[in-house]
Amino acid sequence: MTQLCPASGTGAVNAGHRGSLHPHTQNGLMVPYITKWTGERTLRRVMVRRGAGIGFADESPYDRDDDGVLWIRQTSAQGSGEAEYLNVHSARQRQVTRGLLCQGCAVDTVEQDPQRQLFVLKDIGKPIGEGELTTAGPVCLPCAHVTRTHCPPLRRHVAAWVERPLLWGVAGILHDRGTLRPLPKESLEMVSYEDPRLPWVLAVRQVLSLNGCAAVDLGDLGARGVDAMTGLPDR
Ligand SMILES: [Zn+2]
Repeated sequence: MTQLCPASGTGAVNAGHRGSLHPHTQNGLMVPYITKWTGERTLRRVMVRRGAGIGFADESPYDRDDDGVLWIRQTSAQGSGEAEYLNVHSARQRQVTRGLLCQGCAVDTVEQDPQRQLFVLKDIGKPIGEGELTTAGPVCLPCAHVTRTHCPPLRRHVAAWVERPLLWGVAGILHDRGTLRPLPKESLEMVSYEDPRLPWVLAVRQVLSLNGCAAVDLGDLGARGVDAMTGLPDR
């Protein structure tokens, strides 16, 4: 699992993404679209038993995704306060993974290439394999190159063109069926859509499985920098 490196904000990326959903910058640097801001708060809700799982006492249709999974509730105020580079905003992460938008700049990667999307993950010691699970969204070429160049944690990375990124499930917080309290765990639990525990999870991240993967060396894609970015089409 990975996210676009915060250090990818160089100020150069958004210069080429005219019409992007994502104009937010900090200190003159572009902040990745999925990054959470300090002005965005996670709201604790009273949990109740609903059907065969958990629900919010004051639940609204917006609290569940198209698959009926309950999602953590966060306020949305992109650009408010300071960027929390190590945190991801759940709703925007869900938006980019479900819509295959670039997680750095929110450009539509399917519009750019209907056949395949580019994924860049932290080095996992082997190429991205068939069915690899990730919470990362795709990246456009300019964001991939900026990430590789300016993001120390992703200097060691693996990248692949992916023909079929599929919705696999969610990563979230499982709840006890008796007490309805969160089960203690240090990290988020990956729960597939086929998993019977799905109704008992509070989703925090969308999880994709990557299929039809072809490893790629970003260096082979050409040193696309600011000049290349300016060639992107308007959205
Ligand atoms: Zn991008």
